[in-house]
Amino acid sequence: MNQTLKIKDLSVSINNKLILDKINLEVKSGEVCALMGPNGSGKSTLANVIMGNPKYKIENGSILINNESITNLKVNEKAKKGIFLSFQYPSEVSGVTISNFLRTALNTLKDTNISVMEFQKILKEKIELLEIKDGLTKRYLNEGFSGGEKKKFEILQMAVLQPKFALLDETDSGLDIDSLKIVTNGINKIKESNNTGFLIITHHQKILDYIKPDKIYIIVGGKIIKQGDSSLSTKLEELGYKWLKEEN
Ligand code: ADP
Ligand code: MG
Repeated sequence: MNQTLKIKDLSVSINNKLILDKINLEVKSGEVCALMGPNGSGKSTLANVIMGNPKYKIENGSILINNESITNLKVNEKAKKGIFLSFQYPSEVSGVTISNFLRTALNTLKDTNISVMEFQKILKEKIELLEIKDGLTKRYLNEGFSGGEKKKFEILQMAVLQPKFALLDETDSGLDIDSLKIVTNGINKIKESNNTGFLIITHHQKILDYIKPDKIYIIVGGKIIKQGDSSLSTKLEELGYKWLKEEN
């Protein structure tokens, strides 16, 4: 079923400082939306608020899936509704293998009890789909992972959990060109096989050469100051954000 994640007039503050100002944005199933903007403009804040991070205070507005408000749900409830957030700086967790972590996450999320054997089959399928090296899943979570490996793990996590909407916060940062290709290829395949809608947060146009966005939103100073089709990112790459600030 096609679904819509809608952000409506969302204003958010932290320590009484307004960080997001009347944000309106929409992501549909199977769609890729890019959110671009300079450092400190509120991109990560938006992703965190959509996911339900309690650190931020919602002053106004709402977050909806198919017109049903999910604004005040907790992180785990939002995950059950099918929202997935990648982390800009994933933390290390000792003693848990990737494989175990993913099986537990899947069982918790879907209220299932998939056995180790059954899960190995699922995992193998996903690893083949994403063309990721098998050895990764036997490793401990994020321990000694290179930047590229962390990102590939995020993509694998997404392939296993099959979210309805995925918020990817600078998934392209720190990736070399080969890793970028594997990661973007994975995103495209998840989009095709699962009809996931993506909100891709990025500074760089490069990732959008591999994942063609349907829409681009530009955020500056907590406000969406422009939206458009994929041609917007090319213009941005050429002229920088200054061009937009002058226009507004
Ligand atoms: P971006 O991801 O676009 O670089 P952020 O969403 O991380 O921007 O930050 C937006 C603004 O909110 C910045 O001015 C930042 O300093 C402020 N901010 C974000 N999180 C916090 C926090 N926990 N405490 C205080 N200020 C914060
Ligand atoms: Mg950020």
